[in-house]
This record gives sequence, structure tokens and C-alpha cells, in this order.
Amino acid sequence: MAVYTKKEQIYEGKAKKLFRTEDPDKTIIEYKDSFTAFNGEKRAEMSGKGRLNNLISCEVFGFLAQKGIPMHFIEKIDELRQLAVMVTILPLEVVVRNITTGSLCKRLGIEEGIRLPRPLVEFYYKDDALGDPLVTEDHALLFGWATEDELRSIKEITLRVNDALKKLFEPLGVILVDFKLEFGKDSSGNLLLADEISPDTCRFWDASTGDRLDKDRFRKDLGDVLGAYEEIWKRLSGDKSRP
Ligand code: UDP
Repeated sequence: MAVYTKKEQIYEGKAKKLFRTEDPDKTIIEYKDSFTAFNGEKRAEMSGKGRLNNLISCEVFGFLAQKGIPMHFIEKIDELRQLAVMVTILPLEVVVRNITTGSLCKRLGIEEGIRLPRPLVEFYYKDDALGDPLVTEDHALLFGWATEDELRSIKEITLRVNDALKKLFEPLGVILVDFKLEFGKDSSGNLLLADEISPDTCRFWDASTGDRLDKDRFRKDLGDVLGAYEEIWKRLSGDKSRP
């Protein structure tokens, strides 16, 4: 595989920076040490966070690639960076829930910790100023955020990702409670799983203690935030006998 060098920065988000490379269809993604929650209202810098999220995300994407999930991720470059296909991100956040918690419980007054009989898939419109509101598929279609075919593929890929991730994390003693995915389109219009999969975007509960091993430690001031991310990385990298 050719070696790509970091050219000018194209974009800086809350958790990552994107850089151009020699190839217009490939980008270098660099993970940052910043934490943000509640729509950017709560912020902190924690040295080592970017490394852990990049390592975890590379490992998870590598596992999903083996399962045939179409994705932007190409390869890990080093501890902070990964090479990915340049995509245009669809303005939708796709959330999958296996166990009730978070905004679902707040919005609908539902008890926390209920195991759902099947995964619940939700769409949120990506707009910081509006606080990423929950939307229906019809909103996505009518306002041109995704086509009918894209929505069908998104749901199908999302459920495959959920199945694969549950199989990946269960033997590691980690319950996959819920997570958020983003999708993008490459220069030929192919739909690809994009963004990251890390403790920033997933809720992980320790199967034996119920400890939170994800960004909820930061959101709710539970302490030892990076220790939890380190624990996820330790379990992921330690077990090479994958399903
Ligand atoms: N999530 C995310 N980015 C967001 C909103 C949610 O990665 O902007 C993830 C979150 O970490 C959790 C899942 O999506 O794993 C469901 O989050 P929820 O809707 O419960 O929102 P929250 O309670 O975090 O506001």
C-alpha cells in the first residue's frame, strides 16, 4: 500500500482533524485529546484520549471489515492517525439501542436498563444549533438527507454492525448498550460506514460490575474517564481469538 503524507487540514471537528493527502479520494484522520458533551457545552482536554479512541476505532473497523461491512476506514497509520476514504457525510446520526438508557429514557419516561426484544434504530438530524433532533425516515426522505435506497442500506448495515459488535464485545465481558453510527458517500456515490466507533460513540457496560466504560463517565462526572477507555482497549487488544 502506498504511503500517504499529511497535507493541509480540511476540517476540524470536536474529536478529530481531517487532512488532505496526495490522493483526493483519501484523507488522514487524526484523533484529538478533547472531550465534549451536551452539544459542546461541557469540554475538557485529556492527554492520551485521542490515542485510545484511534486504537479502539481502528481495531473495531478492522473487525467489521472482515465481516464485509462497507466502510471509509482503510488502515491504521500510527497511534493517533488512520487513513480513510474521503466521504461526504450524510446529515444523519443513526443510533442503535439494545438496552434502554440516555435520551430515550428522558424523552419517553421509560425505565433505564430494560433489554429490548430487538434492536431499536433511530435517526437524528445532525445539526448542532438544533441539538440534533430525533427525526423519522420520512423527514430524511422529504428533506433530501438520504434516498430510499440509502435508508434501506443504512438500516441493513447498521443491524449487521450491531450483531457483529455484540459478538465482538460479549466475550470481553462488555455489554453493548447503544451506539451511534454515521454514514458517508465516496466520490462515486457509494454508501460507506464512516466517522468512528469508540467509547465516545458507544455505551459499554462491564458485564460483571455494571461499571460504565464509556463517555458517560465524562458526561456524569463518574471519574477515571481515561481508565475506562484504557480498559476497553486492553480487553480489545488482549483477545486475539475473535469470533
Ligand atoms: N451518541 C453520540 N453522539 C451524539 C449523540 C449520541 O455518539 O451526538 C451516542 C451515545 O454515546 C450513545 C448513543 O449514541 O451511545 C445514544 O445516545 P443518546 O441518544 O442516549 O444521547 P445522550 O444520552 O448521550 O444525550
